[in-house]
Order: sequence, then structure tokens, then C-alpha cells
Amino acid sequence: MRWSQSFIPTLKENPSDAEIPSHQLMLRAGYVRQLMAGAYTYLPLGWRSIRKIEAIIREEMDATGALEMFMPALQPIDLFERTGRKEAFGNVLINFNIRRQNHQVHLALGPTHEEVVTDLMSRHISSYRQLPMTVYQIQTKFRNEERPRFGVLRTSEFLMKDAYSFHSSVESLSETYQKIYRAYCRIFARCGLEYLPVEAESGPIGGDASHEFMAPAANGEDQIVFCRKTRYAANLERAETGRVRSQVKPVDTALPASEKLHTPNVGSIDALCRLLNCQPTQLIKTLILLADGEPVAVLLRGDHEANEGKIRRALGAKTLEMADAATVFKVSSAPIGFAGPVGLKCRFVADHDIPQVVPAVVGANVEDYHLANVVLGRDFDLPRTAEGEYETFDLRNAAAGDPSPRGEGTLELVHGIEVGHVFKLGTKYSVSLNATYDDEAATRQPLIMGCYGIGVNRILASMAETKFDDNGLVLPLSIAPYSVVISTIGVNDPAVDEVVNQLEKELTAAGVDLLIDDRDQRPGVKFKDADLIGIPLRVVIGGKGLKEGQVELKWRHLPEATKIPVAGAASAILEQLATRRKEEAAHVPE
Ligand code: ATP
Ligand code: MG
Repeated sequence: MRWSQSFIPTLKENPSDAEIPSHQLMLRAGYVRQLMAGAYTYLPLGWRSIRKIEAIIREEMDATGALEMFMPALQPIDLFERTGRKEAFGNVLINFNIRRQNHQVHLALGPTHEEVVTDLMSRHISSYRQLPMTVYQIQTKFRNEERPRFGVLRTSEFLMKDAYSFHSSVESLSETYQKIYRAYCRIFARCGLEYLPVEAESGPIGGDASHEFMAPAANGEDQIVFCRKTRYAANLERAETGRVRSQVKPVDTALPASEKLHTPNVGSIDALCRLLNCQPTQLIKTLILLADGEPVAVLLRGDHEANEGKIRRALGAKTLEMADAATVFKVSSAPIGFAGPVGLKCRFVADHDIPQVVPAVVGANVEDYHLANVVLGRDFDLPRTAEGEYETFDLRNAAAGDPSPRGEGTLELVHGIEVGHVFKLGTKYSVSLNATYDDEAATRQPLIMGCYGIGVNRILASMAETKFDDNGLVLPLSIAPYSVVISTIGVNDPAVDEVVNQLEKELTAAGVDLLIDDRDQRPGVKFKDADLIGIPLRVVIGGKGLKEGQVELKWRHLPEATKIPVAGAASAILEQLATRRKEEAAHVPE
């Protein structure tokens, strides 16, 4: 491909509306253009990269035995009504009425395809003999994202590789899950992306039933809890906190008695700490919640954040909400903000860290008052376990500095971009859409399902977000739009043309995808553009080098250029490309 014949609108300056590297660079490098918020055109370079990513995904999915197909983006709304997801998706589900002859049809644009694929399989699978089966597609999804910001990382129309597996046993589901998990590791590694598989909410199956694949990136919207030492990684909702053991100890009789302090107008933990000149770690905060409609208090250290899912599980509750002011007044005799464990008129549960907060500052259950020097075991108490420990629970988000739940090392918080998600769904969709099979005893059973998604555009956006330097994108051979760019010095120079044409012939014959920058531009401009668009290898032909019988090679990821003789240049380039491909593949797991 000749640059002059292509469509590569590079930009010198950062567009003012692009805030993060991926957005800036993909615009500047001429990979994408925005149509409107959340909708982008992929220009030839961006699209070539996407196609390479898709090819990698197809190879790895096919190798798992999954079958590629293609389902419609247009979907009847009643499928979403039957699974309850019309309500669950809410405003995210793009849906509308259209007229067909003289009646209205209510349609949705698929945000994902569990409904459509389960409906399909309900009509075609009847016996356990047809199982297991995995199908996948690469297809456009639509979600009315409330936050279509961050350019190409989160868009309202995007490509997803979505796969769905169908089983007659949980063991069979786990086997496929493992296979696809490994395929995902290979896909991301082949694309050159740093990735972290993290434990995610497990949903109906429980246990180790869901993993998200995160690309660590400063601008990632997700928070990951990570331990370098043990490689424990989980998303913030799911991450366990390393348990601190708290044997019940006799109360220290030297501690001063608790003291009631006037604390008017303190609307926050910070304000209270300023007033009392203490740290949030010396505070116990008491949250009054309604668990299945019953008031219950949760005790957390002042600097910790409540984790709704953990609290719900610890209480065995189906629903959980913040208590209203009237309930708070009933149990704490005070407005919201002054509840504490001393004399509280409802059940309470304490987080694992509570026994370490001695003495503590707590709400006084009196408007505008707190208690200081409150001591567990003296001023309030917690139930004991059979092992002589306080009965405490993991009720909060993990925080940086917590011990790792694997027993060694400490946790840190890193930001990440979710590029993939594997999930053991169980029978949620097959039950609601009546997708069943006959087991060996000819009894009807709901299909057991797994689903597996990858954000295709998000892989490229995450690469652009993490693989760049001051001069532009730095992409690997595996997904760069072209492997090699030939930058010519001197246009209409027959000596240059001859070498370029010969190289083009030999490299193209060997299957190398080649971009030839034949524009009538200064070398500096050509080199800048070649760097910006992230092509792994630049070959410079012309000028003084060519007169000396040499061409210059410059790898995008290396600082220095090297020179090779014109004679035999093609085979030297092929050799270097082969070596580089091997280096890239060295990071790909089995
Ligand atoms: P997120 O939490 O980022 O909104 P999600 O958990 O809703 O994503 P899934 O339903 O798990 O997304 O979809 C599978 C994959 O599709 C995600 O892992 C992600 O890579 C990609 N994806 C989801 N939403 C978008 C989007 N708005 N733009 C681009 N890619 C997306
Ligand atoms: Mg997800």
C-alpha cells in the first residue's frame, strides 16, 4: 500500500476534546474518527488492527472447539421481558417501536446475546447427547452507556466477541470454562496486552465462577485489588481482606472511662476527626441498614468502605438498603449520623477489624454527641466463636496495605480496563426461556450455561492506552496495521524507486504487509508520522545511505537505527521480522 493512495489523516496536535492517551493517539494516528459521543468510524489503519485482533480471537476460539456463527443485532423485546433484563438493563437497553404494515413492533438492539442464543438452543437441543456445545460470534453490540466518555474505551456501539456454552453438568461447564480462560490468556498475550485475570462476582453458581480480564492502566475505570507476592487479584467488589485474627483479650483496666463529647455540625468522618483531633482509624462507624426489611447495624472502622455484596452475604439477606431516617431514629434515638454500638436498639455485626479499634470513638446514639474511649468488652460486646475469638465478618472493601488473603504479602489497588469476562451462568437464562434437554433418565433439565465476552475494540484501545511513547503508538507485529513502513527519501529518484520496488516485490511475496510512504514530504515529517502510527519496523531508503549502498532499519520499540546493505536487504528484513515474532510469542502461555 502506498501512503499517497491510502487514507491516513494524522494530526500534529492533540484534539482538545481527547483527554486520555488512547483517545488522543487513535485520533492523531488516523485510526478513528468520532461520529458522535460513543460512536466511532474505524479508518483503514484502525480497522486493519481490529481485523488482526479478530483473526487472533478466531484462531484461539476455534482451537477450543467453539463454533463461529452470527446472530442479529435486532432482537424482539419480549425475550428481554421474559428474562427480566428489560428492567435490569433499564436505560442502557436501546429499544424502540417500529411500524410493520399496520402494527407496531417493539425491538431492542442487542447489548449482548444470552437471550437470543438461549432461545435458539431451546429449539435445537433436546438431548444430553447434543451437549456440550459452545458457539461464538464477533458482532456489534449496542448499549446506551451513561458515560460514553474516555473516547474509544467505552462506546455505545462496539464489537464484542461473545461465546456461549451449553452443558448437562457443572463439571462439563467447568471444563469449557477452563479451556476458554486459557484461550483468553493466549489472545491477550498474542495481542501484546498486559493483562490480569481477576476474580469477579460469582453470581448464581457461587465459588470461582467468574473472572474478569483486566488491562492494568492508570485511566482504567475498574479498581483491582492485587498482591504482587502471591498474584492474588480480584475486583474491588469481590476481593477478600486478609483476615486479622482477634482472640478475645481481657479488658485493659488502665484505660480511661468512656466520655461523651459534644460534636455539633459534623457531617463527615473527616470533620469529626478534625474536631476531635483524631484519625479515621480510631473511629468505629455504625451504618444502619434494612436487611430484608429488618434494621441491622454494621460496624466498620472509620476509614473503611462498606461492601454491599459482602454485607448481604454475611447477613444472609436477599435485599439490603440504607435505613430511612425514621428507622435510624427508632434504633439510635438520634438522626442519621450519631448511631453507635453502645446501647443501640438493634442487632449489629462487626467487621474483622473492629476488635483492633481500642479505644474507639463512636456515635453516642444522642443527637450531636459522640463517645470517646469506648472499649470493646467493657462498653459494648460482640458474640464469641467456639475458638474464643470475636465473631466478626468481612464486610468492607479491601484497601491498599491490607494483608493478602493468601497469607503472604500485602494488597495494593490498581486501576484496570475490563477487556474480557468469563462467567459460569448456570441456569438463569435457560429457566426463564425454557431451554431444556432430556438427561439420561429422560427427565427434562434446564441447560447449564457459561458466557464469555471480549471487547474487541477495547483491546486496541487498551493497547493504545498503555503502549506508546512521546512520539506515538508502539504496537507489536501481531496487531499493528502494517508490519513494515518504507520511508523514502527523495521522490522521483529512479535509484530509490528501483530499490523500493524490488523490496516491495520480495517482501510482499513473503507475505509481509507493507506500507510505502511515497509522499512528497520531508524525511522528518515521514519519520514522525511513521512513529505516530506505531508501525513496528521502519525501513529508510534514499539519501546518503543509499549512495553508500545501505538502507536503514529502525525498530519502533528500540532507540537506535541500524544499517544493512541494499543487496540482500529483503532477506535480512525477513530474518529480523521472524526473530521479532518469536520474541513477541515468547510471552504467550501454553
Ligand atoms: P463494563 O463494566 O466496562 O461496562 P461490562 O461488564 O458491562 O463492561 P460485559 O457485559 O462483561 O461488559 O461485556 C463483555 C466485554 O465487552 C467487556 O469485558 C468489555 O471488554 C466489552 N465492553 C463492554 N461494554 C463496552 C463498551 N461500552 N465499549 C467497549 N467495550 C465494551
Ligand atoms: Mg463484565
